[in-house]
Amino acid sequence: MSFKDAYIGLGSNLSDPQAQVTQALQELNSIPDTKLVKASSLYISEPMGPSDQPDYINAVAKISTCLSAEDLLKELQSIENRHRRQRNGQRWGPRTLDLDIILFGDEQIDSKKLQIPHYGVSEREFVLIPLQELQADLIIPGKGSVADLIDNLPEYRLQKLDHNNG
Ligand code: ATP
Ligand code: CA
Ligand code: CA
Repeated sequence: MSFKDAYIGLGSNLSDPQAQVTQALQELNSIPDTKLVKASSLYISEPMGPSDQPDYINAVAKISTCLSAEDLLKELQSIENRHRRQRNGQRWGPRTLDLDIILFGDEQIDSKKLQIPHYGVSEREFVLIPLQELQADLIIPGKGSVADLIDNLPEYRLQKLDHNNG
């Protein structure tokens, strides 16, 4: 069996987002042939897209897996469904749980169902900052180093969730 490291972006802004994300981090361990290696801190971010929705809690997890990227996506979507994720057609609308594959080893995939590295990674502070926390010298295939991508962000407003204000 060949294990690969992958990075998963987690986000929630409904039904106790902190609990949704904390629980989902542990559920990554229940995916077959997959282990949670390390989780970032939790962060609070302002919503992308529609602004009439609550702030998000975000984190990034490093996992080790023997699954293919396609099978991993299916497992992540079934975790989202267990968290009663509803798909109401509104792009970037509020959700109980979103699990995106940010990186999958050094693979670059561009199919109908899957783009890896995740297409939004270069612009999203709520992905880049936790990624940097997990691995400061990380390179995103085709996009550059996480450190350079963070330097190129416009001023950002991400906040680390403090243990006392959650
Ligand atoms: P965004 O993709 O901009 O972060 P979103 O997470 O709200 O938005 P979803 O509705 O959760 O979007 O996902 C839409 C589709 O994106 C999924 O059905 C999946 O097939 C596809 N997708 C493509 N690449 C990825 C990836 N790297 N990780 C997760 N889903 C992906
Ligand atoms: Ca997403
Ligand atoms: Ca998603």
